Amino acid sequence: MHSRYAVFGQPIAHSLSPRIHTLFAAQFGIALDYRAIEAGREDFVQVLDAFARNGGRGANVTLPLKEDAAALCAECSERARRCGSVNTLLRVGDMWHGDSTDGAGLLRDLREHHDFDPRDQRILLLGAGGAARAAAFAFIDAGAAELVIANRTFERADTLAAAIDAPSRVAARAWTELSIGDGFDLVVNATAAGHAGAAFDLPCDRLASRTFCYDLSYGKAASPFLDWARATGASHVSDGLGMLVEQAAESFAIWHGRRPDTAPVHAELRAQLVAASKK
Ligand code: NDP
Repeated sequence: MHSRYAVFGQPIAHSLSPRIHTLFAAQFGIALDYRAIEAGREDFVQVLDAFARNGGRGANVTLPLKEDAAALCAECSERARRCGSVNTLLRVGDMWHGDSTDGAGLLRDLREHHDFDPRDQRILLLGAGGAARAAAFAFIDAGAAELVIANRTFERADTLAAAIDAPSRVAARAWTELSIGDGFDLVVNATAAGHAGAAFDLPCDRLASRTFCYDLSYGKAASPFLDWARATGASHVSDGLGMLVEQAAESFAIWHGRRPDTAPVHAELRAQLVAASKK
């Protein structure tokens, strides 16, 4: 049977994953069948079963399904188990194996494209959802000196900090009690707040010019945080398009055993985003 790949989520129509994986596959002469399939939490299991019966061999999973994907896997990688989130499914026999490539994709983008190594750095992470969980474990594994996690719902930040279990390096803060000052080398926005389009507001008058501000989202959703960061003094800012491409490359390597060149794919998507922003 023809091998199929797909990304599942809701909404999914505007996902960049089919384009990214098609471009990766072309680098190796692979004729890839990769689609975007709409599924919500109620019908995900049935839709995924049907996909597997029809030759589905690998899948990406995005909002709001990453925790559901973790729950249905027969086996999960250590990194997926720890962050309780699966974004990559691999069919093995008649079961799914799960992995989480978000943290690795973020680290790779920071190191390769922004010359930022989290080792010994002081990092503020905004958010405590699925992407923030992956980022938090990745930063600690990469040797961050200090990780402060702040979230609108404080309890989720507290639960995440406790799960990481490195009290000398990780602390949770209530959003309203944040004191940013000049203390951080990296501020990461892993909230979904930007999708609502409202202006970003944090209790901070001035960031140190060395502070690098990174938003996991891209396109219009990244603008509120990145505009705030520029206005507050950050000299280096980035959206999460590079992370998107790098986490996809990790998934591709899991399925096909080969690592694609991400640079031309990133460049094409960036050009598309710039063109779309001018319309
Ligand atoms: P989740 O739904 O799991 O988490 C959402 C987070 O955003 C929670 O911490 C939530 O806080 C917070 N939040 C939502 N609305 C607001 C608001 N108005 N003000 C403040 N905080 C808010 O989403 P994900 O973790 O999966 O995704 C988070 C972001 O990361 C999204 O923008 C997504 O697009 C992006 N992302 C990018 C990836 C990439 O490859 N570049 C990969 C994965 C995600 P609370 O707990 O209080 O509800």
